Amino acid sequence: MARSGYEAGMKMMEELTTNAEQIQEQVLEEILGRNAGTEYLRRFLRGETDTKLFKANVPIVTYEDIKPYIDRIANGEPSDILLDEPVIQFYRSGTSGGQPKLIPTTAELANKGAIFDTLLQSVMTKHFGDLDHAGKRMELMFTKPVIETPSGLQAASVTTSIFKKSGFRTISKLYTSPIETIFCSDTKQSMYCQLLAGLIRRDEVVTVGSTFASTVLRSIKFLEDYWQELCSNIKIGQISDWIIDSGCRNAASLILKHNPDLAYSIENICSCKSWEGIIRKLWPKAKYISAINTGVMSQYTAELEFYGGGLPLVSGFYACSEAICGINLEPLSKSSDVSYTFLPNMAYFEFLPMKKDCVTISQDQAQFDGLSRHESIEKKTNNEDTEPVDLVNVKPGQCYELLVTTSAGLYRYRVGDILMVSGFHNNTPQFRFVERQNVILSIHADKTSEADLSKAVTEAKALLDPLGIFLTGYTSYGDTSSIPGHYVLFWELKGKEGNNIKEVDPKIMVECCSKMEESLNYTYKMYRKENEIAALEIRVVKQGTFDALMDYYVSKGASLSQFKAPSCTKSMEALKILDSRVIGKFFSPKTPI
Ligand code: AMP
Repeated sequence: MARSGYEAGMKMMEELTTNAEQIQEQVLEEILGRNAGTEYLRRFLRGETDTKLFKANVPIVTYEDIKPYIDRIANGEPSDILLDEPVIQFYRSGTSGGQPKLIPTTAELANKGAIFDTLLQSVMTKHFGDLDHAGKRMELMFTKPVIETPSGLQAASVTTSIFKKSGFRTISKLYTSPIETIFCSDTKQSMYCQLLAGLIRRDEVVTVGSTFASTVLRSIKFLEDYWQELCSNIKIGQISDWIIDSGCRNAASLILKHNPDLAYSIENICSCKSWEGIIRKLWPKAKYISAINTGVMSQYTAELEFYGGGLPLVSGFYACSEAICGINLEPLSKSSDVSYTFLPNMAYFEFLPMKKDCVTISQDQAQFDGLSRHESIEKKTNNEDTEPVDLVNVKPGQCYELLVTTSAGLYRYRVGDILMVSGFHNNTPQFRFVERQNVILSIHADKTSEADLSKAVTEAKALLDPLGIFLTGYTSYGDTSSIPGHYVLFWELKGKEGNNIKEVDPKIMVECCSKMEESLNYTYKMYRKENEIAALEIRVVKQGTFDALMDYYVSKGASLSQFKAPSCTKSMEALKILDSRVIGKFFSPKTPI
Protein backbone atom coordinates (compact mmCIF):
# COMPACT_ATOMS: atom_id res chain seq x y z
CA MET A 1 0.00 0.00 0.00
CA ALA A 2 1.38 3.40 -0.99
CA ARG A 3 2.08 6.05 1.65
CA SER A 4 -0.97 8.22 0.88
CA GLY A 5 -3.25 5.13 1.09
CA TYR A 6 -1.90 4.03 4.43
CA GLU A 7 -2.08 7.51 5.93
CA ALA A 8 -5.75 7.75 4.93
CA GLY A 9 -6.34 4.28 6.44
CA MET A 10 -4.67 5.23 9.73
CA LYS A 11 -6.68 8.44 9.85
CA MET A 12 -9.87 6.41 9.42
CA MET A 13 -8.72 4.10 12.22
CA GLU A 14 -8.23 7.09 14.54
CA GLU A 15 -11.67 8.48 13.68
CA LEU A 16 -13.39 5.16 14.19
CA THR A 17 -11.75 4.50 17.54
CA THR A 18 -12.32 8.06 18.77
CA ASN A 19 -16.03 8.09 17.86
CA ALA A 20 -16.80 4.49 18.77
CA GLU A 21 -19.88 5.29 20.85
CA GLN A 22 -21.67 7.35 18.17
CA ILE A 23 -20.68 4.90 15.44
CA GLN A 24 -22.05 1.95 17.39
CA GLU A 25 -25.34 3.82 17.97
CA GLN A 26 -25.59 4.60 14.26
CA VAL A 27 -24.84 1.00 13.32
CA LEU A 28 -27.63 -0.28 15.59
CA GLU A 29 -30.11 2.38 14.46
CA GLU A 30 -29.44 1.53 10.83
CA ILE A 31 -29.83 -2.20 11.42
CA LEU A 32 -33.12 -1.68 13.26
CA GLY A 33 -34.37 0.92 10.78
CA ARG A 34 -33.99 -1.58 7.98
CA ASN A 35 -34.81 -4.85 9.69
CA ALA A 36 -37.47 -4.11 12.34
CA GLY A 37 -40.16 -5.24 9.90
CA THR A 38 -38.70 -8.72 9.34
CA GLU A 39 -40.72 -11.67 10.61
CA TYR A 40 -38.00 -12.44 13.16
CA LEU A 41 -37.69 -8.96 14.73
CA ARG A 42 -41.46 -8.26 14.59
CA ARG A 43 -41.86 -11.02 17.17
CA PHE A 44 -39.97 -8.91 19.69
CA LEU A 45 -40.26 -5.29 18.51
CA ARG A 46 -43.68 -5.20 16.81
CA GLY A 47 -42.17 -3.10 14.03
CA GLU A 48 -40.58 -0.50 16.37
CA THR A 49 -36.99 0.61 15.84
CA ASP A 50 -36.22 1.88 19.33
CA THR A 51 -32.76 0.75 20.50
CA LYS A 52 -33.89 0.55 24.15
CA LEU A 53 -36.71 -1.78 23.17
CA PHE A 54 -34.19 -3.83 21.22
CA LYS A 55 -32.09 -4.33 24.35
CA ALA A 56 -35.11 -5.05 26.52
CA ASN A 57 -36.96 -7.42 24.19
CA VAL A 58 -34.70 -9.09 21.67
CA PRO A 59 -33.34 -12.33 23.13
CA ILE A 60 -29.70 -13.38 23.18
CA VAL A 61 -29.49 -16.37 20.87
CA THR A 62 -27.24 -19.13 19.62
CA TYR A 63 -26.99 -20.50 16.10
CA GLU A 64 -29.54 -23.20 16.95
CA ASP A 65 -32.15 -20.53 17.75
CA ILE A 66 -31.94 -18.85 14.36
CA LYS A 67 -31.19 -21.98 12.35
CA PRO A 68 -34.89 -22.52 11.45
CA TYR A 69 -34.94 -19.08 9.75
CA ILE A 70 -31.64 -19.69 7.98
CA ASP A 71 -32.81 -23.11 6.80
CA ARG A 72 -36.02 -21.57 5.44
CA ILE A 73 -33.97 -19.06 3.41
CA ALA A 74 -31.62 -21.81 2.24
CA ASN A 75 -34.69 -23.77 1.15
CA GLY A 76 -36.08 -20.95 -0.95
CA GLU A 77 -38.17 -18.61 1.23
CA PRO A 78 -37.47 -14.89 0.76
CA SER A 79 -34.63 -13.64 2.96
CA ASP A 80 -36.79 -10.84 4.39
CA ILE A 81 -38.10 -13.23 7.04
CA LEU A 82 -34.78 -12.50 8.79
CA LEU A 83 -33.13 -9.53 7.10
CA ASP A 84 -34.09 -6.73 4.78
CA GLU A 85 -31.17 -6.89 2.37
CA PRO A 86 -31.04 -9.82 -0.07
CA VAL A 87 -28.76 -12.68 0.97
CA ILE A 88 -26.13 -13.07 -1.74
CA GLN A 89 -24.59 -16.24 -0.35
CA PHE A 90 -23.88 -18.12 2.87
CA TYR A 91 -20.59 -18.44 4.65
CA ARG A 92 -19.92 -21.93 5.91
CA SER A 93 -18.37 -21.44 9.32
CA GLY A 94 -15.31 -23.65 9.51
CA THR A 95 -15.06 -23.85 13.28
CA SER A 96 -13.96 -27.40 13.87
CA GLY A 97 -16.06 -29.99 15.64
CA GLY A 98 -19.73 -30.07 14.74
CA GLN A 99 -21.59 -29.45 11.51
CA PRO A 100 -20.59 -26.30 9.60
CA LYS A 101 -23.02 -23.43 10.18
CA LEU A 102 -24.56 -21.37 7.39
CA ILE A 103 -24.16 -17.64 8.01
CA PRO A 104 -26.09 -15.30 5.66
CA THR A 105 -24.02 -12.67 3.91
CA THR A 106 -24.98 -9.57 1.94
CA ALA A 107 -23.44 -7.02 -0.45
CA GLU A 108 -23.12 -4.57 2.43
CA LEU A 109 -21.05 -7.04 4.44
CA ALA A 110 -18.78 -7.51 1.44
CA ASN A 111 -18.21 -3.73 1.44
CA LYS A 112 -17.31 -3.86 5.12
CA GLY A 113 -14.76 -6.54 4.21
CA ALA A 114 -13.13 -4.13 1.75
CA ILE A 115 -12.94 -1.37 4.43
CA PHE A 116 -11.42 -3.86 6.87
CA ASP A 117 -8.76 -4.83 4.28
CA THR A 118 -7.79 -1.19 3.86
CA LEU A 119 -7.50 -0.70 7.62
CA LEU A 120 -5.49 -3.89 8.11
CA GLN A 121 -3.12 -3.11 5.24
CA SER A 122 -2.65 0.43 6.61
CA VAL A 123 -1.56 -0.92 10.00
CA MET A 124 0.82 -3.38 8.34
CA THR A 125 2.26 -0.71 6.04
CA LYS A 126 2.81 1.59 9.00
CA HIS A 127 4.95 -1.06 10.68
CA PHE A 128 6.63 -2.84 7.78
CA GLY A 129 6.61 -0.33 4.93
CA ASP A 130 5.10 -0.74 1.49
CA LEU A 131 5.62 -4.45 0.86
CA ASP A 132 3.26 -4.58 -2.14
CA HIS A 133 5.94 -2.97 -4.26
CA ALA A 134 8.85 -4.75 -2.59
CA GLY A 135 8.02 -8.33 -3.59
CA LYS A 136 5.44 -11.08 -3.23
CA ARG A 137 3.66 -12.70 -0.32
CA MET A 138 3.92 -16.44 0.14
CA GLU A 139 0.48 -16.92 1.62
CA LEU A 140 -0.79 -20.50 1.70
CA MET A 141 -4.42 -20.40 0.67
CA PHE A 142 -6.86 -23.27 0.28
CA THR A 143 -10.42 -23.47 -0.95
CA LYS A 144 -13.28 -25.91 -0.54
CA PRO A 145 -15.82 -26.67 -3.24
CA VAL A 146 -18.78 -24.29 -3.18
CA ILE A 147 -22.07 -25.95 -2.23
CA GLU A 148 -25.46 -24.87 -3.52
CA THR A 149 -28.47 -24.70 -1.19
CA PRO A 150 -31.89 -25.87 -2.48
CA SER A 151 -32.74 -22.20 -3.14
CA GLY A 152 -29.74 -21.91 -5.47
CA LEU A 153 -27.70 -19.72 -3.09
CA GLN A 154 -24.04 -20.63 -2.82
CA ALA A 155 -22.43 -21.66 0.47
CA ALA A 156 -18.66 -21.47 0.91
CA SER A 157 -16.12 -20.79 3.66
CA VAL A 158 -15.23 -17.11 4.11
CA THR A 159 -11.74 -17.69 2.78
CA THR A 160 -13.03 -19.55 -0.30
CA SER A 161 -15.51 -16.71 -0.92
CA ILE A 162 -12.75 -14.10 -0.67
CA PHE A 163 -10.46 -15.95 -3.09
CA LYS A 164 -13.34 -16.46 -5.55
CA LYS A 165 -14.17 -12.75 -5.75
CA SER A 166 -13.17 -11.02 -8.97
CA GLY A 167 -11.30 -8.41 -6.90
CA PHE A 168 -9.02 -11.13 -5.58
CA ARG A 169 -7.92 -12.01 -9.12
CA THR A 170 -6.65 -8.45 -9.57
CA ILE A 171 -4.58 -8.56 -6.39
CA SER A 172 -3.47 -12.18 -6.83
CA LYS A 173 -0.25 -10.93 -8.45
CA LEU A 174 0.81 -9.86 -4.96
CA TYR A 175 1.09 -13.54 -4.00
CA THR A 176 3.49 -16.28 -5.07
CA SER A 177 0.70 -18.87 -5.38
CA PRO A 178 -0.85 -18.97 -8.86
CA ILE A 179 -4.62 -18.68 -8.52
CA GLU A 180 -5.19 -22.15 -10.08
CA THR A 181 -3.19 -23.76 -7.26
CA ILE A 182 -5.44 -22.06 -4.68
CA PHE A 183 -8.54 -23.42 -6.40
CA CYS A 184 -7.26 -26.99 -6.66
CA SER A 185 -9.59 -28.99 -4.41
CA ASP A 186 -6.92 -31.61 -3.66
CA THR A 187 -5.08 -30.09 -0.70
CA LYS A 188 -1.93 -32.20 -1.26
CA GLN A 189 -1.47 -31.10 -4.86
CA SER A 190 -2.40 -27.54 -3.91
CA MET A 191 0.14 -27.47 -1.05
CA TYR A 192 2.88 -28.98 -3.25
CA CYS A 193 2.39 -26.47 -6.03
CA GLN A 194 2.06 -23.48 -3.67
CA LEU A 195 5.33 -24.45 -1.97
CA LEU A 196 6.96 -24.99 -5.35
CA ALA A 197 5.91 -21.51 -6.46
CA GLY A 198 7.14 -20.02 -3.17
CA LEU A 199 10.52 -21.73 -3.55
CA ILE A 200 10.94 -20.70 -7.19
CA ARG A 201 10.31 -17.09 -6.18
CA ARG A 202 12.14 -17.34 -2.87
CA ASP A 203 14.17 -14.19 -3.47
CA GLU A 204 11.05 -12.11 -4.00
CA VAL A 205 9.11 -13.31 -0.93
CA VAL A 206 8.40 -10.51 1.57
CA THR A 207 6.01 -12.34 3.93
CA VAL A 208 5.24 -15.99 4.68
CA GLY A 209 1.93 -17.02 6.15
CA SER A 210 -1.56 -18.41 6.14
CA THR A 211 -4.74 -17.48 8.01
CA PHE A 212 -3.95 -19.69 11.00
CA ALA A 213 -0.61 -20.78 12.50
CA SER A 214 -1.44 -24.48 12.23
CA THR A 215 -1.50 -24.26 8.41
CA VAL A 216 1.95 -22.66 8.28
CA LEU A 217 3.30 -25.49 10.40
CA ARG A 218 1.53 -28.04 8.27
CA SER A 219 3.34 -26.59 5.25
CA ILE A 220 6.70 -26.89 7.01
CA LYS A 221 5.99 -30.55 7.80
CA PHE A 222 4.99 -31.04 4.18
CA LEU A 223 8.25 -29.44 3.08
CA GLU A 224 10.19 -31.84 5.31
CA ASP A 225 8.64 -34.72 3.39
CA TYR A 226 8.84 -33.22 -0.10
CA TRP A 227 11.83 -30.87 -0.35
CA GLN A 228 13.96 -33.37 -2.24
CA GLU A 229 11.23 -33.95 -4.81
CA LEU A 230 10.55 -30.21 -5.10
CA CYS A 231 14.27 -29.59 -5.67
CA SER A 232 14.44 -32.30 -8.29
CA ASN A 233 11.46 -30.68 -10.12
CA ILE A 234 13.30 -27.34 -10.04
CA LYS A 235 16.55 -28.96 -11.19
CA ILE A 236 15.04 -30.51 -14.33
CA GLY A 237 12.31 -27.93 -14.87
CA GLN A 238 9.51 -30.47 -14.81
CA ILE A 239 6.70 -31.08 -12.33
CA SER A 240 6.15 -34.53 -10.75
CA ASP A 241 3.78 -36.88 -12.56
CA TRP A 242 1.45 -37.23 -9.57
CA ILE A 243 0.38 -33.58 -9.97
CA ILE A 244 -2.56 -34.38 -12.23
CA ASP A 245 -4.78 -31.36 -11.56
CA SER A 246 -4.67 -29.53 -14.89
CA GLY A 247 -4.86 -26.03 -13.30
CA CYS A 248 -1.88 -26.85 -11.04
CA ARG A 249 0.14 -28.43 -13.88
CA ASN A 250 -0.45 -25.52 -16.24
CA ALA A 251 0.31 -22.90 -13.60
CA ALA A 252 3.48 -24.73 -12.53
CA SER A 253 4.68 -25.14 -16.12
CA LEU A 254 4.50 -21.37 -16.57
CA ILE A 255 6.84 -20.63 -13.68
CA LEU A 256 8.98 -23.78 -13.53
CA LYS A 257 12.24 -23.44 -15.44
CA HIS A 258 15.26 -25.72 -15.38
CA ASN A 259 17.27 -24.06 -12.59
CA PRO A 260 19.90 -26.32 -10.98
CA ASP A 261 21.53 -23.44 -9.07
CA LEU A 262 18.31 -22.61 -7.28
CA ALA A 263 17.69 -26.30 -6.55
CA TYR A 264 21.19 -26.72 -5.06
CA SER A 265 20.84 -23.69 -2.81
CA ILE A 266 17.48 -24.97 -1.49
CA GLU A 267 18.95 -28.46 -1.04
CA ASN A 268 21.85 -26.99 0.91
CA ILE A 269 19.48 -25.30 3.32
CA CYS A 270 17.03 -28.18 3.68
CA SER A 271 19.67 -30.86 4.17
CA CYS A 272 20.91 -29.19 7.38
CA LYS A 273 20.34 -31.41 10.41
CA SER A 274 18.43 -28.74 12.28
CA TRP A 275 15.60 -26.85 10.67
CA GLU A 276 15.86 -24.03 13.18
CA GLY A 277 15.25 -20.77 11.29
CA ILE A 278 14.34 -22.61 8.06
CA ILE A 279 11.72 -20.02 7.06
CA ARG A 280 14.22 -17.18 7.29
CA LYS A 281 16.87 -19.19 5.45
CA LEU A 282 14.58 -20.21 2.59
CA TRP A 283 12.94 -16.80 2.26
CA PRO A 284 15.69 -14.37 3.27
CA LYS A 285 13.78 -11.20 2.40
CA ALA A 286 10.68 -12.10 4.43
CA LYS A 287 9.84 -9.41 6.96
CA TYR A 288 7.39 -11.40 9.06
CA ILE A 289 5.24 -14.52 9.35
CA SER A 290 1.56 -13.67 9.19
CA ALA A 291 -0.76 -16.14 10.90
CA ILE A 292 -3.26 -15.95 13.74
CA ASN A 293 -1.53 -17.46 16.72
CA THR A 294 -3.80 -16.51 19.60
CA GLY A 295 -6.51 -18.64 21.22
CA VAL A 296 -6.27 -22.30 20.33
CA MET A 297 -3.48 -21.38 17.87
CA SER A 298 -1.17 -20.25 20.69
CA GLN A 299 -0.05 -23.89 21.10
CA TYR A 300 1.90 -23.50 17.83
CA THR A 301 3.79 -20.34 18.75
CA ALA A 302 6.97 -21.97 20.08
CA GLU A 303 7.34 -24.21 17.04
CA LEU A 304 6.67 -21.36 14.66
CA GLU A 305 9.26 -19.21 16.44
CA PHE A 306 11.76 -22.04 16.09
CA TYR A 307 11.25 -22.35 12.33
CA GLY A 308 10.96 -18.58 11.91
CA GLY A 309 14.47 -17.93 13.24
CA GLY A 310 13.60 -14.56 14.74
CA LEU A 311 11.08 -13.37 12.14
CA PRO A 312 8.22 -11.57 13.89
CA LEU A 313 5.00 -13.57 14.16
CA VAL A 314 2.11 -11.31 13.25
CA SER A 315 -1.39 -12.16 14.42
CA GLY A 316 -3.13 -9.42 12.47
CA PHE A 317 -6.84 -9.63 13.15
CA TYR A 318 -9.73 -11.26 14.93
CA ALA A 319 -12.70 -12.18 12.77
CA CYS A 320 -15.28 -14.88 12.33
CA SER A 321 -17.74 -15.89 9.66
CA GLU A 322 -20.38 -13.92 11.55
CA ALA A 323 -18.53 -10.58 11.70
CA ILE A 324 -15.19 -8.87 11.37
CA CYS A 325 -14.26 -7.78 14.87
CA GLY A 326 -10.81 -6.31 15.43
CA ILE A 327 -7.31 -5.51 14.27
CA ASN A 328 -4.01 -5.85 16.12
CA LEU A 329 -2.62 -2.31 16.10
CA GLU A 330 0.74 -3.50 17.45
CA PRO A 331 1.65 -6.29 15.02
CA LEU A 332 5.13 -6.57 16.52
CA SER A 333 3.88 -7.35 20.00
CA LYS A 334 4.71 -10.72 21.57
CA SER A 335 2.15 -13.44 20.83
CA SER A 336 1.11 -13.60 24.47
CA ASP A 337 0.43 -9.84 24.51
CA VAL A 338 -1.60 -9.60 21.31
CA SER A 339 -4.77 -7.51 21.62
CA TYR A 340 -7.34 -6.72 18.99
CA THR A 341 -8.82 -3.23 18.79
CA PHE A 342 -12.48 -3.54 17.84
CA LEU A 343 -13.79 -1.80 14.73
CA PRO A 344 -17.06 -0.08 15.71
CA ASN A 345 -18.28 0.20 12.10
CA MET A 346 -18.27 -3.56 11.41
CA ALA A 347 -21.24 -4.70 13.53
CA TYR A 348 -23.07 -3.77 16.71
CA PHE A 349 -21.15 -5.42 19.53
CA GLU A 350 -22.36 -6.31 23.01
CA PHE A 351 -20.53 -8.07 25.78
CA LEU A 352 -21.97 -10.48 28.26
CA PRO A 353 -19.96 -10.33 31.50
CA MET A 354 -18.76 -13.76 32.49
CA LYS A 355 -20.54 -15.02 35.58
CA LYS A 356 -17.53 -17.15 36.36
CA ASP A 357 -14.24 -15.34 36.35
CA CYS A 358 -11.97 -16.42 33.55
CA VAL A 359 -8.72 -18.17 34.29
CA THR A 360 -6.38 -15.59 32.84
CA ILE A 361 -7.25 -12.94 35.32
CA SER A 362 -8.57 -14.89 38.25
CA GLN A 363 -5.21 -16.10 39.38
CA ASP A 364 -3.49 -12.72 39.13
CA GLN A 365 -6.48 -11.06 40.69
CA ALA A 366 -6.69 -13.64 43.46
CA GLN A 367 -3.03 -13.11 44.30
CA PHE A 368 -3.56 -9.38 44.24
CA ASP A 369 -6.53 -9.66 46.58
CA GLY A 370 -4.81 -12.22 48.78
CA LEU A 371 -7.63 -14.71 48.08
CA SER A 372 -7.63 -18.30 46.99
CA ARG A 373 -8.81 -18.86 43.42
CA HIS A 374 -12.00 -20.44 44.70
CA GLU A 375 -12.83 -17.42 46.85
CA SER A 376 -12.07 -15.15 43.95
CA ILE A 377 -14.63 -16.93 41.77
CA GLU A 378 -17.26 -16.73 44.48
CA LYS A 379 -16.61 -13.06 45.04
CA LYS A 380 -17.00 -12.21 41.37
CA THR A 381 -20.06 -14.38 40.97
CA ASN A 382 -21.88 -12.66 43.77
CA ASN A 383 -21.16 -9.14 42.62
CA GLU A 384 -21.42 -9.55 38.92
CA ASP A 385 -23.80 -7.66 36.74
CA THR A 386 -24.92 -10.15 34.13
CA GLU A 387 -26.61 -7.80 31.64
CA PRO A 388 -24.74 -7.32 28.34
CA VAL A 389 -22.80 -4.07 28.10
CA ASP A 390 -22.00 -1.90 25.07
CA LEU A 391 -18.59 -1.80 23.40
CA VAL A 392 -17.48 1.43 25.06
CA ASN A 393 -18.67 0.39 28.52
CA VAL A 394 -16.57 -2.73 29.04
CA LYS A 395 -14.18 -2.76 32.00
CA PRO A 396 -10.44 -3.42 31.76
CA GLY A 397 -9.47 -6.83 33.13
CA GLN A 398 -13.00 -8.23 32.83
CA CYS A 399 -13.88 -11.21 30.63
CA TYR A 400 -16.90 -11.16 28.36
CA GLU A 401 -18.69 -13.34 25.91
CA LEU A 402 -19.07 -11.61 22.55
CA LEU A 403 -22.53 -10.93 21.06
CA VAL A 404 -22.95 -9.52 17.56
CA THR A 405 -25.83 -7.85 15.79
CA THR A 406 -25.25 -7.49 12.06
CA SER A 407 -27.07 -6.19 9.03
CA ALA A 408 -27.04 -9.79 7.75
CA GLY A 409 -29.67 -11.21 10.11
CA LEU A 410 -27.85 -11.92 13.36
CA TYR A 411 -29.37 -10.21 16.37
CA ARG A 412 -27.68 -10.50 19.78
CA TYR A 413 -25.95 -13.62 18.51
CA ARG A 414 -23.48 -15.52 20.71
CA VAL A 415 -20.32 -16.00 18.68
CA GLY A 416 -19.02 -18.43 21.30
CA ASP A 417 -15.76 -16.60 22.07
CA ILE A 418 -14.57 -15.29 25.43
CA LEU A 419 -12.49 -12.13 25.37
CA MET A 420 -10.72 -10.10 28.02
CA VAL A 421 -10.43 -6.31 27.96
CA SER A 422 -6.74 -5.44 27.92
CA GLY A 423 -6.92 -1.68 27.34
CA PHE A 424 -8.29 1.06 25.14
CA HIS A 425 -7.17 2.77 21.96
CA ASN A 426 -8.77 6.22 22.02
CA ASN A 427 -12.32 5.35 23.14
CA THR A 428 -12.38 1.83 21.81
CA PRO A 429 -11.56 -1.25 23.85
CA GLN A 430 -8.89 -3.75 22.94
CA PHE A 431 -9.39 -7.41 23.71
CA ARG A 432 -7.26 -10.47 24.26
CA PHE A 433 -8.73 -13.67 22.94
CA VAL A 434 -9.24 -16.00 25.90
CA GLU A 435 -11.04 -19.10 24.66
CA ARG A 436 -13.96 -20.70 22.84
CA GLN A 437 -16.88 -20.77 25.22
CA ASN A 438 -18.13 -24.28 24.89
CA VAL A 439 -14.98 -26.34 24.93
CA ILE A 440 -14.78 -27.92 28.32
CA LEU A 441 -13.62 -31.11 29.87
CA SER A 442 -15.71 -32.32 32.72
CA ILE A 443 -15.79 -35.61 34.58
CA HIS A 444 -17.52 -34.77 37.85
CA ALA A 445 -18.56 -31.20 38.71
CA ASP A 446 -15.19 -29.94 37.47
CA LYS A 447 -15.15 -27.65 34.45
CA THR A 448 -11.95 -27.23 32.53
CA SER A 449 -12.13 -24.56 29.87
CA GLU A 450 -10.01 -24.28 26.75
CA ALA A 451 -7.88 -21.60 28.45
CA ASP A 452 -7.44 -23.74 31.61
CA LEU A 453 -6.30 -26.65 29.47
CA SER A 454 -3.99 -24.56 27.32
CA LYS A 455 -2.31 -23.11 30.41
CA ALA A 456 -1.77 -26.58 31.93
CA VAL A 457 -0.38 -27.94 28.64
CA THR A 458 1.97 -24.94 28.31
CA GLU A 459 3.36 -25.52 31.80
CA ALA A 460 3.77 -29.27 31.28
CA LYS A 461 5.35 -29.11 27.85
CA ALA A 462 8.04 -26.77 29.21
CA LEU A 463 9.53 -29.93 30.77
CA LEU A 464 10.28 -31.22 27.26
CA ASP A 465 12.12 -28.08 26.16
CA PRO A 466 15.52 -28.99 27.64
CA LEU A 467 15.30 -32.33 25.79
CA GLY A 468 14.88 -30.55 22.44
CA ILE A 469 11.35 -31.88 22.01
CA PHE A 470 8.32 -29.97 20.69
CA LEU A 471 4.69 -30.63 21.36
CA THR A 472 3.33 -30.25 17.82
CA GLY A 473 -0.33 -30.93 18.55
CA TYR A 474 -2.68 -31.84 21.36
CA THR A 475 -6.28 -32.59 22.00
CA SER A 476 -8.21 -34.14 24.85
CA TYR A 477 -11.33 -35.96 25.99
CA GLY A 478 -13.01 -36.99 29.19
CA ASP A 479 -12.83 -40.78 29.41
CA THR A 480 -15.75 -42.03 31.48
CA SER A 481 -15.57 -45.65 30.34
CA SER A 482 -14.22 -46.60 33.78
CA ILE A 483 -15.20 -45.21 37.19
CA PRO A 484 -14.01 -42.70 38.20
CA GLY A 485 -13.42 -41.15 34.80
CA HIS A 486 -10.26 -39.27 33.89
CA TYR A 487 -8.83 -36.69 31.51
CA VAL A 488 -6.99 -38.09 28.48
CA LEU A 489 -4.57 -35.88 26.54
CA PHE A 490 -3.24 -36.90 23.14
CA TRP A 491 0.20 -35.41 22.52
CA GLU A 492 2.17 -35.49 19.28
CA LEU A 493 5.89 -34.88 19.79
CA LYS A 494 8.74 -34.03 17.50
CA GLY A 495 12.48 -33.49 17.96
CA LYS A 496 13.83 -30.01 17.25
CA GLU A 497 16.29 -31.66 14.88
CA GLY A 498 13.31 -32.90 12.89
CA ASN A 499 13.82 -36.38 14.33
CA ASN A 500 10.92 -38.71 14.83
CA ILE A 501 10.25 -39.27 18.52
CA LYS A 502 9.67 -42.99 18.95
CA GLU A 503 10.22 -43.08 22.68
CA VAL A 504 10.43 -40.47 25.41
CA ASP A 505 11.83 -41.07 28.83
CA PRO A 506 8.73 -42.37 30.70
CA LYS A 507 9.87 -40.51 33.83
CA ILE A 508 9.58 -37.18 32.00
CA MET A 509 6.18 -38.04 30.58
CA VAL A 510 4.88 -39.01 34.01
CA GLU A 511 6.20 -35.68 35.28
CA CYS A 512 4.30 -33.94 32.46
CA CYS A 513 1.11 -35.66 33.66
CA SER A 514 1.75 -34.44 37.22
CA LYS A 515 2.57 -30.94 36.05
CA MET A 516 -0.66 -30.77 34.08
CA GLU A 517 -2.71 -31.80 37.08
CA GLU A 518 -0.96 -29.27 39.31
CA SER A 519 -1.72 -26.54 36.79
CA LEU A 520 -5.42 -27.36 36.45
CA ASN A 521 -8.00 -25.41 38.43
CA TYR A 522 -9.04 -25.67 42.03
CA THR A 523 -12.21 -27.69 41.39
CA TYR A 524 -10.36 -30.29 39.33
CA LYS A 525 -7.77 -30.75 42.05
CA MET A 526 -10.43 -30.92 44.76
CA TYR A 527 -12.33 -33.74 43.00
CA ARG A 528 -9.10 -35.47 42.12
CA LYS A 529 -8.13 -35.51 45.80
CA GLU A 530 -11.56 -36.85 46.69
CA ASN A 531 -11.00 -39.58 44.09
CA GLU A 532 -13.98 -38.45 42.04
CA ILE A 533 -11.57 -38.11 39.11
CA ALA A 534 -8.84 -40.66 38.32
CA ALA A 535 -5.25 -39.89 37.32
CA LEU A 536 -4.74 -37.77 34.22
CA GLU A 537 -3.35 -39.70 31.26
CA ILE A 538 -1.15 -38.56 28.37
CA ARG A 539 -1.21 -40.74 25.27
CA VAL A 540 1.71 -40.00 22.98
CA VAL A 541 0.72 -40.48 19.34
CA LYS A 542 2.85 -41.14 16.25
CA GLN A 543 4.09 -38.22 14.17
CA GLY A 544 1.58 -37.27 11.51
CA THR A 545 -1.44 -38.10 13.68
CA PHE A 546 -2.66 -34.49 13.83
CA ASP A 547 -2.25 -34.22 10.06
CA ALA A 548 -4.45 -37.30 9.75
CA LEU A 549 -6.95 -35.66 12.11
CA MET A 550 -6.91 -32.47 10.04
CA ASP A 551 -7.43 -34.55 6.87
CA TYR A 552 -10.41 -36.21 8.51
CA TYR A 553 -12.05 -32.88 9.39
CA VAL A 554 -11.25 -31.46 5.94
CA SER A 555 -12.91 -34.54 4.39
CA LYS A 556 -15.97 -33.76 6.52
CA GLY A 557 -16.25 -30.24 5.11
CA ALA A 558 -13.82 -28.05 7.12
CA SER A 559 -11.65 -25.73 5.03
CA LEU A 560 -7.89 -26.17 5.47
CA SER A 561 -7.52 -22.37 5.48
CA GLN A 562 -9.90 -22.05 8.42
CA PHE A 563 -9.25 -25.31 10.27
CA LYS A 564 -8.63 -25.17 14.01
CA ALA A 565 -7.79 -28.46 15.71
CA PRO A 566 -10.27 -28.98 18.55
CA SER A 567 -8.64 -28.81 21.98
CA CYS A 568 -11.25 -31.28 23.16
CA THR A 569 -13.13 -33.83 21.10
CA LYS A 570 -16.06 -36.17 21.56
CA SER A 571 -16.11 -37.42 17.98
CA MET A 572 -15.83 -41.22 17.90
CA GLU A 573 -14.18 -41.03 14.47
CA ALA A 574 -11.56 -38.55 15.69
CA LEU A 575 -10.90 -40.68 18.78
CA LYS A 576 -10.48 -43.74 16.57
CA ILE A 577 -7.85 -41.93 14.48
CA LEU A 578 -6.03 -40.83 17.62
CA ASP A 579 -6.22 -44.14 19.49
CA SER A 580 -5.00 -46.16 16.53
CA ARG A 581 -1.76 -44.17 16.56
CA VAL A 582 -0.86 -44.27 20.26
CA ILE A 583 2.77 -45.20 20.96
CA GLY A 584 2.87 -44.66 24.73
CA LYS A 585 0.51 -44.12 27.67
CA PHE A 586 1.49 -42.32 30.85
CA PHE A 587 -0.42 -41.53 34.04
CA SER A 588 -0.03 -39.00 36.76
CA PRO A 589 1.46 -40.88 39.74
CA LYS A 590 -0.02 -38.83 42.59
CA THR A 591 -2.85 -36.47 43.43
CA PRO A 592 -1.93 -32.84 42.70
CA ILE A 593 -1.06 -30.40 45.44
P1 AMP B 1 -14.88 -19.44 11.54
O1 AMP B 1 -16.16 -19.83 12.19
O2 AMP B 1 -14.25 -20.51 10.77
O3 AMP B 1 -15.03 -18.17 10.82
O4 AMP B 1 -13.87 -19.19 12.73
C1 AMP B 1 -14.06 -18.10 13.58
C2 AMP B 1 -13.49 -18.45 14.93
O5 AMP B 1 -12.06 -18.58 14.84
C3 AMP B 1 -13.71 -17.34 15.93
O6 AMP B 1 -15.00 -17.36 16.48
C4 AMP B 1 -12.62 -17.67 16.94
O7 AMP B 1 -13.01 -18.71 17.80
C5 AMP B 1 -11.48 -18.13 16.04
N1 AMP B 1 -10.60 -16.97 15.74
C6 AMP B 1 -10.68 -16.11 14.72
N2 AMP B 1 -9.74 -15.15 14.81
C7 AMP B 1 -9.04 -15.44 15.93
C8 AMP B 1 -7.93 -14.83 16.59
N3 AMP B 1 -7.32 -13.75 16.11
N4 AMP B 1 -7.48 -15.40 17.72
C9 AMP B 1 -8.05 -16.52 18.22
N5 AMP B 1 -9.09 -17.14 17.65
C10 AMP B 1 -9.58 -16.60 16.52
